Amino acid sequence: MSYRYRCGTCRTTSEPVTTRRAARAEQDWHRAREHAGLIPDGESIEPDDEHALGTGGLLLAVLIGCLIVDALARITH
Ligand SMILES: [Zn+2]
Repeated sequence: MSYRYRCGTCRTTSEPVTTRRAARAEQDWHRAREHAGLIPDGESIEPDDEHALGTGGLLLAVLIGCLIVDALARITH
């Protein structure tokens, strides 16, 4: 699992980091550097689960592929 810090005001997202703590550090750094230490609107720390979604989507595609092959096999017999 990894996390990203996102700033809605700047419409930017940090590189993915491995821990929520590291994402908080990105948050503190971004606030200090870009917002003079103030808290911008629309900021969040989000789990970066693109990879997990990719794996789930691939499994789903394989499952659907098997079902289609099975259905075709039934039609031809
Ligand atoms: Zn910002």
